[in-house]
Amino acid sequence: MCKEYYNMADLICRKRDGNHLSKKEIKWIIKEYINGDIPDYQMSAFLMAILFRDMNREETTFFTESMIASGDCIDLSDIPGIKVDKHSTGGVGDKISLVLAPVAAAAGVVVPMMSGRGLGHTGGTLDKLEAIPGFNTDLSVSEFKKILKKIGFAMIGQSDKIVPADQKLYSLRDVTGTVPSIPLICSSIISKKKAEGAEALIMDVKVGNGAFMQDRKRGVALAHKLVELGNELDIKTAALLTNMDEPLGYTVGNWLETREAIRVLKGEGSDDIVGLVASLGSALLMMGEKTKNREEGKEKIMELINSGKGYKKFIQMVDLQGGDTSVVEKPETFPFTGEIITVKSRVSGYIKSVNALKTGLLSVELGAGRKKKEDKVDPGAGIEFLKKRGDKISRNEPVAVLYTKKKAGDFFKQRLFDCISFSDSAVTDRELIYGFIDEK
Ligand code: URA
Repeated sequence: MCKEYYNMADLICRKRDGNHLSKKEIKWIIKEYINGDIPDYQMSAFLMAILFRDMNREETTFFTESMIASGDCIDLSDIPGIKVDKHSTGGVGDKISLVLAPVAAAAGVVVPMMSGRGLGHTGGTLDKLEAIPGFNTDLSVSEFKKILKKIGFAMIGQSDKIVPADQKLYSLRDVTGTVPSIPLICSSIISKKKAEGAEALIMDVKVGNGAFMQDRKRGVALAHKLVELGNELDIKTAALLTNMDEPLGYTVGNWLETREAIRVLKGEGSDDIVGLVASLGSALLMMGEKTKNREEGKEKIMELINSGKGYKKFIQMVDLQGGDTSVVEKPETFPFTGEIITVKSRVSGYIKSVNALKTGLLSVELGAGRKKKEDKVDPGAGIEFLKKRGDKISRNEPVAVLYTKKKAGDFFKQRLFDCISFSDSAVTDRELIYGFIDEK
């Protein structure tokens, strides 16, 4: 058979000029990129052209299928039960997956979770898990299946064997300003879910200043596309649209968020985190046919947190994936060696809001994220808020603690103040969940 051959510079120009590419062209681009025959600089230009010019439904499907075909798909047909997963489109302080996966497994659903790393100013589940010393997110397919069979869930990342195209594109998008493209987000997420063997998926589509979709209209558009693409590829997909104007919970940064997730699993979670875990969890249990309605599902999720069953599952998973369970059991033993900077309020009043985007960017600056592809994250770096929206605060009272190995304390303190706005009067609650979108 004659080998397809195209000129990448020409394909970049065609996308730049708003043309649609064919299935063969898209397949060729992904294959050549994986083989190393298309360099990052051309791929970056192509991704930027997609960001500005978009891809239509057919192109997005071809792109996703080509990404799936870049590696192996995991066959989970020998594991009984519906395989269900949850994924977020990216947020700040979003440690929901770390809580939800073990709790759902404790409810009896099978969760083969393939997550991503930090992307832009948002955090990633893999970086958070890897903050636990020894934790391995790069399991072989047989190890992954063995753990799934044993405890009902396992947490891995894309690799050079499973969706390598997403592994390469993801880290390139992270540092080239090409994340907030609806077709690129959809293909990245759905390719991972198909390859991991998920049959049902609940999406947490984030909207707000800290999300890749800053307004509700774009968020709704992304949710519809995810639901459409997932269902087209035989993954029963639904989405919750949720607020990402402020960081979730009290912490931003890899170890800090893992530590907070452990607290949530012990029944000590903040209202926003617990609310989202309950809502996403009940949708997940309904998809896994473990509950009949949302209210019953939420009650079940809360029962599994409060009884410590979710926490027990988490410990088992950490152990089976090579992590040091003693750090999970005694978080105060985490080996952090950097500076710990307490930031005190300059005013008295109420916390009016905490800007999620500015907080995410500050956490990258502190060392929790990447600015270049080859950067290593500092697992201990990040921000711990001591106060949240609505809390009363007095002048000189500590408002946050910064963890970093970088030496720029005063600069970071000022950046932290830039994240927070204060008010003289009490502040009302914010809406956390905007809506639910499914195939209908
Ligand atoms: N999560 C992913 O896996 N990919 C994206 O592009 C965004 C969020």
